[in-house]
Amino acid sequence: MSNGRGIGRGAGAGAGRGQTGRGRMGGFAAGPGGECVCPKCGYRMSHQIGIPCYQQKCPKCGSAMTRG
Ligand SMILES: [Zn+2]
Repeated sequence: MSNGRGIGRGAGAGAGRGQTGRGRMGGFAAGPGGECVCPKCGYRMSHQIGIPCYQQKCPKCGSAMTRG
């Protein structure tokens, strides 16, 4: 058991590309950024990177958004 060279390190410098290719999550097309959706009125907005959906408020009804 050599515990020196691990596989899986090095390929991780490129987060932020939204190319079509990931299609394994049912029907909802939530990309890397995804969308936030209001559970109350159904308003959708693009998810802001770095800000959790639940910290965003729906501009329509003021409810906390949730992940779509
Ligand atoms: Zn709303």
